[in-house]
Order: sequence, then structure tokens, then C-alpha cells
Amino acid sequence: MHYFAGIDIGSTTIKIVLTDEKELLVADYVCPTGSHFHKHTVAAFNDVLEQNDISKKNVSYIFSTGYGRKLFKEADDSISEISANAVGAGKIAATVGKVSTIINIGGQDLKIISLDNDGHVKNFAMNDKCAAGTGRFLDMMARNLEVDVDELGNHHLNSTGVPLTINSTCTVFAESEIIGLLAGGSGKAEIIAGIHYSIAKRVARLSKRVGSLGDVIFFDGGPAMNQGLVQAIEDELMQKIVVPEKPQITTAYGAALIARETFLYEDGSYVDG
Ligand code: ADP
Repeated sequence: MHYFAGIDIGSTTIKIVLTDEKELLVADYVCPTGSHFHKHTVAAFNDVLEQNDISKKNVSYIFSTGYGRKLFKEADDSISEISANAVGAGKIAATVGKVSTIINIGGQDLKIISLDNDGHVKNFAMNDKCAAGTGRFLDMMARNLEVDVDELGNHHLNSTGVPLTINSTCTVFAESEIIGLLAGGSGKAEIIAGIHYSIAKRVARLSKRVGSLGDVIFFDGGPAMNQGLVQAIEDELMQKIVVPEKPQITTAYGAALIARETFLYEDGSYVDG
């Protein structure tokens, strides 16, 4: 049996996906990247193999992707996270339709990727170096509000008041603004909803740079697990968006699919479809 690995070394988390010859996802794994990219990736890869009782020699091809992809020398090849994301999203959403746009929010970036009819990257826009609108922004706001990041969505959806307006996009100023709102007696849930709408407005603004979003908008990356943020983005774009069951691993899955295809081509046994 051949297995194929996609390893997405992001700024915040390492994601590993293993697929079999039939493109079936057989294992997925997420852990923090930390400061030792290489050491943690090697440990994570060994863990996922051990947990799934798969021998390293049966992993026929490995593609790394993401921010730290070049540091994992054990990979057979590497690919940009934008290309791997496009492949993963296209496959996951195949039953819904052809993905026209991907919104990807990671730990430190926000990307809007526009795809053509064949699922290839047509255009993309990315936030500047600032953390506004990223997972890090959400992490810091959650810390200020003494709420776990995975609880932000529930707070938002359970809020009964009007979402508050958060004017500052800069993380540092937004922190002071939130502390001010809390001191003024504003409710946490309404502040959280306001934070989500401020990110959603940023997404909508960045989207304008890539042109028309088309009919199938796919949202992935860790913050796509936040249902409040999903709702805020749908409201701002005035369109339903597709969120996969495991939005954090789409790019790693795409890299694993590319690993499989590359191996089968080299092996001479690739059959499309
Ligand atoms: P990267 O690929 O850039 O390392 P990820 O796509 O893994 O980043 O996203 C990391 C971010 O996802 C975190 O900073 C956090 O804000 C968010 N996140 C992680 N887990 C959850 C969760 N269970 N619910 C909501 N948000 C989450």
C-alpha cells in the first residue's frame, strides 16, 4: 500500500494529512508550530505515523507546503500554500460545485484566492504584515476578553444585543478599545460579534482586489472553525460561503493530493479521474 503525505508548516500550526492511493484521507494531525519548525515537524510526522500504525517506508511521496516548507528537508518536494490550498479546496468542495474564491485566514495572514474554471489560481490578494484580520488578532482579543479562542463563535451566536463597532484595525489599538468597552460595561458577546464584523469587513475590502468572487466561496484555515466569524463574513459579502468539516487541513490535504499525483506520474501508473 502506498501512502502520500502533505505537510503544511504554518506560522501557528503544523498540519499533516496522509492519503491513500485512492485520494482518501486516512489521517490528519494538527499541532503548534512553536519556535523549532524542523524539530516539531519531524516529531509530528513520527507521531501521525505511529498513531495510525503506518510505516515510514510506505509513505511513497511527501510534499511540504506553508510558511516553513523549505525547512523540512525530508520532503520529496514543496509547493506554495496558495497552490496546495487551491487543490485541496477544489477536491473537498467538488460535490458543491467549482470553487471560484477561497478565503483563507491563518495564524498570521489573510488571503483571498481567485480560481479559474479549471481550479487553477487566477489571482490572489494578501493582507500586509499587520496582524489585523488574522488568527493572531482573534487569539489576542480572546485573551483580553478571557475567553478561549474556540469559544468566540458561541459567544457571538448567543449574543442578544447589537454587535459593537470596533474601529481600530491595529491589534494594539483594538486591544485598548476593547478594554475601554469592557470598562464601560459593554457585554463580551457584543464585543466579540463586533470583532468578527471588523474582520469580515476587512475580508470584504481585500476581496475587492481580486475582482468578482463568483458563486462558490470556500472559507478555510483555523479561524473558519469560528461560526460567528463565518456568519459575519456571510453578512458582509451578502453570500453563503462553504466551510469544510475540517477547515484547518485543506492545504495539507491539497499537498498530499499533489504528492500522490506526482508519484503516480513518475511511476507511470497515473490515470486521471
Ligand atoms: P497557520 O496555517 O497560519 O499556522 P491556522 O490555519 O492553523 O494557521 O490558524 C490558526 C488560528 O486558528 C489560530 O491563531 C486561532 O485563532 C484559530 N483557531 C484555532 N483553533 C480554533 C478553533 N477551535 N476555533 C476557532 N478558531 C481556532
